[in-house]
Amino acid sequence: MTNEHQTVAFIGAGNMSGAIIAGLVSNGYPASNIIAANPSMPKLETLQNNLGINITTDNIQACQHADVVVLAVKPHLIQQVCQQLADSTDLSGKCFISVAAGVNIIPMQAALGFAAPVIRCMPNTPSQIGLGVSGMYASGEVSENQRQFADQLMQSVGIVQWLDSEAQIDDLIAVAGSAPAYFFAFMEAMQNKAMALGFSKADSRKLVQQTALGAAHMVVENDDLDISTLRENVTSKGGTTQQALTTFAQGGLAELVDKAMQSAIDRAVEMA
Ligand code: NAP
Repeated sequence: MTNEHQTVAFIGAGNMSGAIIAGLVSNGYPASNIIAANPSMPKLETLQNNLGINITTDNIQACQHADVVVLAVKPHLIQQVCQQLADSTDLSGKCFISVAAGVNIIPMQAALGFAAPVIRCMPNTPSQIGLGVSGMYASGEVSENQRQFADQLMQSVGIVQWLDSEAQIDDLIAVAGSAPAYFFAFMEAMQNKAMALGFSKADSRKLVQQTALGAAHMVVENDDLDISTLRENVTSKGGTTQQALTTFAQGGLAELVDKAMQSAIDRAVEMA
């Protein structure tokens, strides 16, 4: 990884910070260049013991020597944390990366007290196991070097999709941010049917999860084929798969998915 000289401060040491820090360290980023701040010690101690990073209960101390500040507290605390940092330390030259859902760049810059370089990042939950999708949008103040660093940071927990506008983050929420739950819901419904057919709960889960994993891998490993081709390849005319797919189509699956994703976008716009 390049940019190893940069010091990164994580404000908030919860699930998302833990995932990103673990990804960074396992990709060879020096733990000595990472500091995490959190009001309580247990999560910090776990990060220090497992990954060797620096820790503090003082946000300002973490921020003081950092080149990059990752804001990873709950969304309702972002303004308060930005103001606390602005009131107590010189923030010039620092780049801020916010993973908080629904908090726009302009209010963050207002709380920081200047037109700071801010990158909005919308990761999804599989980032916690290194298989995430992060949508990223950089404010005009962000330099190319800062953008590259943010890219490396989030690639340590999955793939990165740069967006042309901040508003596109709402679209990305529908496509990736909220989407793991769509697949969970589908798998849950299949598990319930398997159980109704007499399979044990554990066997139902095993059968469904392996099938989902296999299908996802087939998509990944055949990236020269459209997903529709993969579907057609496993659908014999007049067979069982075709019967099931016809039942989905008659129930309006595609329209329902479209409607559900649009409703997620509408809700994200409402919440911003
Ligand atoms: P989390 O596990 O609850 O972590 C938040 C951490 O912030 C907690 O450890 C909390 O400490 C700490 N904290 C509270 N007040 C603070 C303060 N004033 N200064 C510094 N740290 C403070 O939440 P998370 O899941 O990591 O989410 C963090 C952010 O990531 C959120 O804004 C969320 O929208 C975003 N995000 C998360 C995911 C995900 O998959 N988890 C996905 C997309 C976006 P205590 O517990 O000790 O109070």
